[in-house]
Amino acid sequence: MAKAISPCIFCQIARSSNSTPLLHSDDKVVAFKDINPSAFRHYLIIPVEHIPTVNDLQRRNEDYTLVSHMINVGETLLRRDAPQSNQYRFGFHQPPFNSVDHLHLHCFALPFIPRWKQLKYMSLGPLGGFIEAEKLLEKIKPLSPIPP
Ligand code: 5GP
Ligand code: ZN
Repeated sequence: MAKAISPCIFCQIARSSNSTPLLHSDDKVVAFKDINPSAFRHYLIIPVEHIPTVNDLQRRNEDYTLVSHMINVGETLLRRDAPQSNQYRFGFHQPPFNSVDHLHLHCFALPFIPRWKQLKYMSLGPLGGFIEAEKLLEKIKPLSPIPP
């Protein structure tokens, strides 16, 4: 039987069934440039597995390790591609503020271009909005130590 075509654009990118060039890929995550960049460098890191949003992450080793890995990949790419930028930012839009329902880490080497685009990536406190990656990590950090 013919395989169903995935309606998720980021699943298509993760499977390289789309023309988006990948900056990094491994068995857990892939990285690529945002099609509509908001900063000097703007990359997205996504899990290969279709996890819809941050609300699907739990306080468990598997999720904590995945998000840590996404951040590490983003940091490594930005340090390589934008060493002159003196500020990096990493984070996620929380529903309903996301526009693609496949988890994606925004990785920025600042400045935001144009400057007003920084407004899209602000925390809205109790309303949600954008959550910094380190803050999300704290929320999903397992209560028992992660085995080596
Ligand atoms: P969100 O608004 O969900 O936090 O971010 C989604 C991001 O995905 C946006 O910054 C948007 O520009 C980017 N994006 C949406 N569709 C595509 C695509 O087909 N290819 C790439 N490279 N980026 C995309
Ligand atoms: Zn997907």
